[in-house]
Amino acid sequence: MTTIPTVPLNDGTSLPELGFGTYLLNGDEGVDAVASAISVGYRLLDSAVNYENESEVGEAVRRSELDRDDLIVTTKVPGRDHGYEQTLASARASIGRLGLDRIDLYLIHWPNPSLDKYLETWRAMIRLREEGLVRSIGVSNFTEPMLTRLIDETGVTPAVNQVELHPYYPQASLRDFHIAHGIRTESWSPLARRSELLTEQAVQDVAAAHDVTPTQVVLRWHIQLRSTPIPKSAHAGRQRENADVFDFALTDAEVAALSGLERGRVRPDMDPNTHEEM
Ligand code: NDP
Repeated sequence: MTTIPTVPLNDGTSLPELGFGTYLLNGDEGVDAVASAISVGYRLLDSAVNYENESEVGEAVRRSELDRDDLIVTTKVPGRDHGYEQTLASARASIGRLGLDRIDLYLIHWPNPSLDKYLETWRAMIRLREEGLVRSIGVSNFTEPMLTRLIDETGVTPAVNQVELHPYYPQASLRDFHIAHGIRTESWSPLARRSELLTEQAVQDVAAAHDVTPTQVVLRWHIQLRSTPIPKSAHAGRQRENADVFDFALTDAEVAALSGLERGRVRPDMDPNTHEEM
């Protein structure tokens, strides 16, 4: 089993340097895949109301028989539940589907700026944390101006901002903002959804130099950028491969070579200023 190191968050808790994505892991096969990931050593699990797999993730957690405090279960408020009372109700419904005592990391899934309700949503999340129903609170897909507004209006800085991040879209300026404000970055679609990224010559060259796989090179790049990647795999062998990235290190030049692949989002329409998810 791989032991995944952790980093401190701004609220006194800690977060693994690498987690497990669960989008598209549903039903019995989903439970098996998440249970397998836990047995491989993943301790951070990333679910969402809109993945329709909170009950599967909760079942895998119970099946693991691990101490509850050893696992960090993430879920997210969907756009349709933005608003103060709606968020309180949404969190309780998520806890019910998870079948757990609390949510460990609760995120606003998308800012949905045209609704203009993310501030109220955030205020409800602060209350949920005070009440102990949620341990850590954060956001996802927030831009610098949105984060600034949240912090200025409420005085509470998110522990995490989970954003699209991979060598095609390294988000250097947003990462710098996060570091300056004590926000931990999480990378979604860290493998760029297994696009041609893994066959890029720059990635292949670094993999050969370290005798590791292209996937491991990309995940190591995230870790060295101080972002927590949450790769998804339905397969135990790949889950192990993806977690096995803590016994080698890229040089600064190798990190820069991967960042040099920048070309933009996998799906250009997923700009949080305009893309909205309910
Ligand atoms: P990833 O970048 O994690 O890529 C997943 C794909 O890569 C799958 O097809 C998987 O296939 C494949 N893969 C995984 N490991 C390997 C490997 N070692 N070798 C070859 N192929 C591999 O994409 P996701 O979009 O799933 O992102 C990860 C997670 O991020 C999601 O599951 C979700 O939890 C989160 N997310 C959050 C969003 C947000 O708005 N907050 C948006 C999108 C994602 P297989 O399963 O067959 O191994």
